[in-house]
Amino acid sequence: MTVVKNVLVVGGGIGGLSAAVALKQKGIDAEIVELNERWQVYHVGIIVQGNFLVAMDALGVADKSIEAGFPYEGIHHCDIDGNRRYSQPPIKVGSAKYAANLGLTRPALHKILTDAVRTQNIPVRLGVTVKDMVEGPDGVAVTFTDGTSGRYDLVIGADGVKSQMRRRLFGEDYKPAFTGQGVWRYNIPRPADFVDMELFRGKPGATAGLVPLDENSMYIFYVAGEPGNPRFQPETLADELRNRLEGYGGLMAKVREQIIDPALVVYRPLETLLMPDPWYRGRAILIGDAAHSTTPHMGQGAALAVEDSVVLADELSKASSVESALAAFMRRRFDRVKTVVDNSILLGEGEMNPEMKVNVPEVYGRAFAVLAQPA
Ligand SMILES: Cc1cc2nc3c(=O)[nH]c(=O)nc-3n(C[C@H](O)[C@H](O)[C@H](O)COP(=O)(O)OP(=O)(O)OC[C@H]3O[C@@H](n4cnc5c(N)ncnc54)[C@H](O)[C@@H]3O)c2cc1C
Repeated sequence: MTVVKNVLVVGGGIGGLSAAVALKQKGIDAEIVELNERWQVYHVGIIVQGNFLVAMDALGVADKSIEAGFPYEGIHHCDIDGNRRYSQPPIKVGSAKYAANLGLTRPALHKILTDAVRTQNIPVRLGVTVKDMVEGPDGVAVTFTDGTSGRYDLVIGADGVKSQMRRRLFGEDYKPAFTGQGVWRYNIPRPADFVDMELFRGKPGATAGLVPLDENSMYIFYVAGEPGNPRFQPETLADELRNRLEGYGGLMAKVREQIIDPALVVYRPLETLLMPDPWYRGRAILIGDAAHSTTPHMGQGAALAVEDSVVLADELSKASSVESALAAFMRRRFDRVKTVVDNSILLGEGEMNPEMKVNVPEVYGRAFAVLAQPA
């Protein structure tokens, strides 16, 4: 018999949904509360690598992810005029059977995970969160914002980068910090012959890129320093992104003209936080961005959230006490996650400060060597 029988998952994003599925697979009941009553996600795309698919495979949904997305091997580094200068050899992270990279829309990933939750009959309550929780000797008594209450053997805080659960468990001291950069994204139709990622360099401190997402679409991204952490009026976003992409040639010059709808531009300042070890207090633990928000430089935020879930369920299924399960979880997670967060920050700092001469292939090689090991 497992040391926990019923678990409350706070947050129905990538980490929370995958945690509930992973627990259910181990015979542990889970239920989810999700604050956003419309449960919608950004329409933009994300990039993931093989270790994401290894973790999704543990949930039984790797093939669905590949079908919904666009697997690709190549990353071509272009100059500002769009000429391919160097093609990066694929780095397989996790399993040789998967392509090195996968482009995937965030809504497609949300559908895969919500379908898995529905298939497992996992209860989800929308527009609801934790109002209060009190831990007793053998469980956590939780009251919810809809007036209901429950008792759980464990509470998982998977409520993302702005986590209220983090504040509830660890106080006000841990807040994500702006790195100095922001990322812009816009989806556009994919030309049939565009099948790899293209990165455009040549503007100091900036990287622009094009990424295939599925049969019909791809996305444009642009990462650069955004001094002063500016906020933009929503109606200006398309102009702001087009202005930033001025001067690039090749395919980027053509697709830049397609950035016309400000409502479809997603801009996010990059923020990071790595909670110190341990990420738990008693019978409550943080996973995903609530515990470790990284920048998109390594395309690892989603993978880390799903890995957290799979590893946590695994440890809970075989431990003799909650405390030993959570301690074992930390031993498997902390250094691996720290490698991603630290190296992602380093890549961003190197972009903003070219005089640092960060050896980018060396940084990826070092981090991916760690991620190639089982989670
Ligand atoms: C624009 C953008 C681009 C990104 N690109 C990539 C990429 O290319 N590759 C990659 O791997 N990662 C990328 N990421 C990061 C990735 O999306 C995150 O790492 C991942 O979503 C973390 O999963 P999570 O479950 O921890 O958080 P989330 O997916 O953010 O889920 C948190 C959930 O908790 C809910 N919630 C919040 N507060 C509460 C509360 N109090 N009570 C209940 N529910 C609550 C939220 O509504 C949300 O549904 C990107 C992120 C952004 C914003």
